[in-house]
Amino acid sequence: MTKVLVWFRNDLRIHDQQILITAIEQNPDVIIPIYCFDDRQFQRTSFGFPKTGKFRAKFLLETLIDLRISLQKLNSNLIIRKGIPEEIISEIAIKYKIDLVCFSQEATAEEITVEKELTKKLNKAKIKVKSVWQSTLYHPDELPCNIANIPDLFTNFRKQIEQKSKVYSCLKTPNKLPPIPDINIGKIPTLQDLNLPHYQFNPKSAFLFEGGETKALERLNYYFWQKDCLKDYKKTRNGMLGSDYSSKFSTWLAIGSRSPRYIYQQVQKYEEERIKNESTYWLIFELLWRDFFRFTAIKYGNKIFYPSGLQNISLPWQKNWSIFEAWCEGQTGYPLIDANMRELKTTGFMSNRGRQNVASFLTKNLGIYWQMGAEWFESLLIDYDVCSNWGNWNYTAGIGNDARGFRYFNTIKQSKDYDYHGNYLRHWLPEIAPIKGEKIHQPWQLLAPEQKQLNIQLGVNYPYPIVDFFESLKHNEKTYLNHTS
Ligand SMILES: Cc1cc2nc3c(=O)[nH]c(=O)nc-3n(C[C@H](O)[C@H](O)[C@H](O)COP(=O)(O)OP(=O)(O)OC[C@H]3O[C@@H](n4cnc5c(N)ncnc54)[C@H](O)[C@@H]3O)c2cc1C
Repeated sequence: MTKVLVWFRNDLRIHDQQILITAIEQNPDVIIPIYCFDDRQFQRTSFGFPKTGKFRAKFLLETLIDLRISLQKLNSNLIIRKGIPEEIISEIAIKYKIDLVCFSQEATAEEITVEKELTKKLNKAKIKVKSVWQSTLYHPDELPCNIANIPDLFTNFRKQIEQKSKVYSCLKTPNKLPPIPDINIGKIPTLQDLNLPHYQFNPKSAFLFEGGETKALERLNYYFWQKDCLKDYKKTRNGMLGSDYSSKFSTWLAIGSRSPRYIYQQVQKYEEERIKNESTYWLIFELLWRDFFRFTAIKYGNKIFYPSGLQNISLPWQKNWSIFEAWCEGQTGYPLIDANMRELKTTGFMSNRGRQNVASFLTKNLGIYWQMGAEWFESLLIDYDVCSNWGNWNYTAGIGNDARGFRYFNTIKQSKDYDYHGNYLRHWLPEIAPIKGEKIHQPWQLLAPEQKQLNIQLGVNYPYPIVDFFESLKHNEKTYLNHTS
């Protein structure tokens, strides 16, 4: 009798699912699919924020409910456990006399440590292990070079891949699985069981993020096929307000309930059946950024978590909590920054445009230790992905692999360029919403009589700028140059 255990991690799907296919190839009599909550992922980050906040936790619970239903339809089930995965999985494997354990490989330290510990325990018990790579669009086998030699510049990485590599086809979804043995299925916990606060959808949020493979597919069908948004993606993707300016695929990609190859395949279908243009290309271009950060994380190992980043640039970052808290709470006096930070705290999401601006402001204007920002994002983002988050923070803080001097985002210009009419700002900043026209981008320019007329009291119900924009840049640039040249 052959028995296989399939350990689900950030690959919570049944379509294009290599671990299920690998398991089935053994012709097993039994397959045990398991997900194990890792207690360590529900502790605190080094700066004291919940490592997995309520937004992502809620999304994860929904994803697991959906996966369990999908597996039940295949004659199987999803076993749920909570604790230390390497201990729990190995104990179950030994107890049920498992022949082979399959799982997906991850890219960063915490996750790799768990894999290694589990493999050690299984080897000791003479249980075979098969780990597979399936989180990226391009499989490492298809890269033009070893991961250790991938270019540090995204453009070079992209060009090489586009010339030399191909995307593997999606794997077939199984239509039936062997049964599970007599085993306690385990309950999917609630947020309360995980010691997290109650989640309530905030109507200010433009989009309800719901976890699960089914919802991921619905979103793709809606965005590509029903609303035809893909044909304009390149023009709309820098927006900030509303549900359809960008795909919102990141949440399902991060947890693995939609495979990047499936998205690629659907883009190709769209190009054949509807239109092939810059926008269809650009969605794949963005997925390449995701691959780039994942492979870069492997290339550089733990350096993405070091204060000095991938480039070993040691800067005297500040750990000023009152300034940092003003940033977190959306109280810096810069409307674009404040609107984005309030959106993040209220919904667990922020656009790419927003993320680039707030990260630049924290590091280039406020000079605050970038890791505090990265951990705040880790705690709150529904789509938190270790490699994309820490890679992008390295990049924006100017210590990443693509460091090209002291580059910054001009908050006021960005505000006008990407939210000309100020609709996004008014949506998130009720205190200054009455300001008409362009002054919404720079409320500090309002004269006292104008403030009075609009019932706005700067310094009382909305702050004056926390720093002078260009003075603070000048100061931090000097520091940067002193430490890099
Ligand atoms: C400081 C900072 C932190 C970030 N943290 C994360 C994170 O934790 N998780 C995450 O998935 N993305 C992160 N991003 C990247 C990007 O902001 C999000 O992927 C994007 O906003 C998600 O929205 P979307 O799916 O609608 O994107 P779309 O514009 O529709 O893009 C499609 C897909 O391409 C990928 N993508 C797009 N831009 C990037 C990028 N810059 N880096 C990596 N992948 C990209 C994502 O998978 C995304 O779903 C971060 C960016 C910055 C500047």
